[in-house]
Amino acid sequence: MKKTTLSVIPGDGIGKEIVPATLKILDTLAEIDGGIQFEYNQYPWSCEYYLEHGVMMPDDGMTKLQQSDAIYLGAVGNPKLVPDHISLWGLLIKIRRECEQVINIRPAQYIKGVKSPLAEPNDFNFLVVRENSEGEYSEVGGRIHSGSDEIAIQNAVFTRNATERTMRYAFELANKRNGQLTSATKSNGIVHSMPFWDQVFQELAGEYPDIKTQSNHIDALAAFLVSKPDQFDVIVASNLFGDILTDLGAAVMGSIGIAPAANINLNGKYPSMFEPVHGSAPDIIGQGIANPIGQLWTAKMMLDHLGLEELGGLLFRAIKETIAEGIKTKDLGGTSTMNEVINHIHAKIKSY
Ligand code: ATP
Ligand code: MG
Repeated sequence: MKKTTLSVIPGDGIGKEIVPATLKILDTLAEIDGGIQFEYNQYPWSCEYYLEHGVMMPDDGMTKLQQSDAIYLGAVGNPKLVPDHISLWGLLIKIRRECEQVINIRPAQYIKGVKSPLAEPNDFNFLVVRENSEGEYSEVGGRIHSGSDEIAIQNAVFTRNATERTMRYAFELANKRNGQLTSATKSNGIVHSMPFWDQVFQELAGEYPDIKTQSNHIDALAAFLVSKPDQFDVIVASNLFGDILTDLGAAVMGSIGIAPAANINLNGKYPSMFEPVHGSAPDIIGQGIANPIGQLWTAKMMLDHLGLEELGGLLFRAIKETIAEGIKTKDLGGTSTMNEVINHIHAKIKSY
């Protein structure tokens, strides 16, 4: 029996409602597999924890996380209790940095039964690979002069190392999927970093002759993801461009409540972290109506990442069938509660 250790951080708000309720699904999947067992280390780190202890996580917390196989996270933040810069930097961003999760991936897929805002959503299924450690969100820059002469300078930093590893991950992913990769660029307007980005993309394309590649300027690409999203498979983007495209992806899917994300560690030293796109949703806490699909789809990404693709596939099949049968929470236009959705998915998996 192979033991897989999962660090479980429900966090704040609806994260605390959804995450613990989904663990029985992971247990049932492990039973189906027969060869693995999940061991959960649950940590109460959250804004409430901060109010009690003055820190978002204890000193030895990071070491504990770093010893696990993956981190399964709900949502962090409750601006009414703790300012966002404290809760995010004290937990979420701290984990991303110290576990060297340098890439963020987010799939966007048309799900039958979820109303997309697109008139003709067709059957889109694309995935954005976002560089998550540098680029436009660098801290290089500052302000000079003052008064009417004041100038703010923000330097984007693109290292060959980070650019190449992000793209290589995207090429490998495209290899496993439909063999098509789009690069988000803007080399017609940004004259140093983006031509470099294009050059590295071209070089790697030479190493992957079977992958069909194209480059689109970010403005056009954003429009294409609305007008013809079904034409895209894997998209690789810098930190800023990826940030924008991933929110767009969640929007065209139809609900923030179903969108999953993963923060990937590439060097194998530390675990990757799996968290839904949505936040703690303070406006619906305690009503039992939180949509658990984003969290469960996140669990599917975690299973895939751990090499348990068969289990990930079963979970995703149950998610899609449940939505198609109309077992949906209020945000998707349904009347089911969070527990009803989770129980339905659980029962389905048991019946496979
Ligand atoms: P954060 O700063 O943590 O991202 P936020 O307020 O920006 O939080 P969310 O917490 O994601 O964003 O909430 C945005 C809106 O979407 C809210 O109205 C919330 O109720 C709704 N929402 C988010 N997640 C879900 C969910 N899983 N089920 C139902 N509604 C949701
Ligand atoms: Mg938000």
